[in-house]
Amino acid sequence: MTLKEYLDSLSEEKRTALVGRETSDVRHEAFTEKRVVHAGLSGRLIAPEEYQNVWHRAMSMPPDGERTYTVYIHIPFCQTKCLYCGFYQNASRQEIEDVYIDDLIAEIERDAAMPHLKTVNIKSIFIGGGTPSSLSVRNAARLLAAIRENLNLCTDYELTFEGRIHDLAPERIETWLSGGVNRISLGVQSFDTILRRRVGRIEPREEVLARLTLLKCWDVTVIVDLIYGLPGQTVDLWMKDIATLMEASIDGMDLYQLNVFPHGDLARAVKAGRVPPCADVAGQADLYHAARDFLTVHGIERLSLCHWRRDPRERSLYNTLAKTGAVVYPFGCGAGGNVGGISFMHHRSIEVYHEAITRGEKPIMMMEQQKSKKLRSVSNEIIAGLEKGYVDLHRLTSLDMRLEELRILLCIWQKNGLMYQKNDLYHLTADGEFWYVSMTQSMVECAEILMCE
Ligand code: SF4
Repeated sequence: MTLKEYLDSLSEEKRTALVGRETSDVRHEAFTEKRVVHAGLSGRLIAPEEYQNVWHRAMSMPPDGERTYTVYIHIPFCQTKCLYCGFYQNASRQEIEDVYIDDLIAEIERDAAMPHLKTVNIKSIFIGGGTPSSLSVRNAARLLAAIRENLNLCTDYELTFEGRIHDLAPERIETWLSGGVNRISLGVQSFDTILRRRVGRIEPREEVLARLTLLKCWDVTVIVDLIYGLPGQTVDLWMKDIATLMEASIDGMDLYQLNVFPHGDLARAVKAGRVPPCADVAGQADLYHAARDFLTVHGIERLSLCHWRRDPRERSLYNTLAKTGAVVYPFGCGAGGNVGGISFMHHRSIEVYHEAITRGEKPIMMMEQQKSKKLRSVSNEIIAGLEKGYVDLHRLTSLDMRLEELRILLCIWQKNGLMYQKNDLYHLTADGEFWYVSMTQSMVECAEILMCE
């Protein structure tokens, strides 16, 4: 099927969701909504009774040697639940945490002995959550020792420890860094005390800044995440946060768009009037552009459309590699990854995870056979380009000539003010940048239609 035939076959509603719409207000109205949280291909579901066999087959084969290898480790505990969070799993409790770290170490030791993982060098490890920084000093030290003893790390590896401000105590920081951590990613979300408390973040602005200052005593890359679109967050409040970020001693920053889960605590709190409304999509676009313009004017280097760095030691390797085709070996309850052409998610229940590890199984909750290697390369190329704001059609057609038809989509976006063409590249316009995730997903889907055998 040609792309034109495909687009003509869609209902008006589906076509608009895919390509957007003509409007004089591109920034706010080019699409009705953000189509997905993360763009990418979906695969073919594998039957649950096959999970363990498929997993063992994938891990028994030596790796192809051409890819980059990363690890994701999940810590499913938080001391408190944030109002907007859709990922909260368990309250921190020492005895449960002790058993969980035993399980996690057993999982790492077991997988590290398998042929796929045994011989590769790991470029990047991300310990995320949940709140990894909430781990006791003893458990953090045990986990980091297990990583060093079982995984082969590249000499220039990146090892990120995710955390919250209130855990930044000298003893903990010493433990993380002496255990091999070289990057700390902090979910600050906002510096504004009222806004922070409204969404369940306890520490006032002064304490957040004091703890960030404390980090200067250590040689470690520090990243801060902020969220835009929080309840009652005005452009003024948001820009005060961005200005504060510029004054703080940090190496990089991620600016994330708030996702309001339809039946989540935040949606319920807004509905009940307990917190002010959150910015709608158009309001989020204004917040994004205010920050983007400010950082551009101040000459801050952008690594992707939502990540900036102030120091070259910030590389953001895990996020970049995981989105663009690297192997991700997952460990822990609720972790997800991909190995040898399969992608999978682990169980989110800590009890189910414990039982699987005790039985000697990989704790898989869902597994997919990924699309063909060629289609994955094309998808990765599209994602990698648009993360940085452009589409290289010449490169895509060198992977598969049929992708020349993507020009139809690019021309529609050019006409709609989302893209412009310069030399061989199609670039997102400033207004188009806010919509890049939706556009990426649309391009990946259209490439899949064109490459359908
Ligand atoms: S710390 Fe992170 S994972 Fe835990 S509740 Fe808050 S946002 Fe969710």
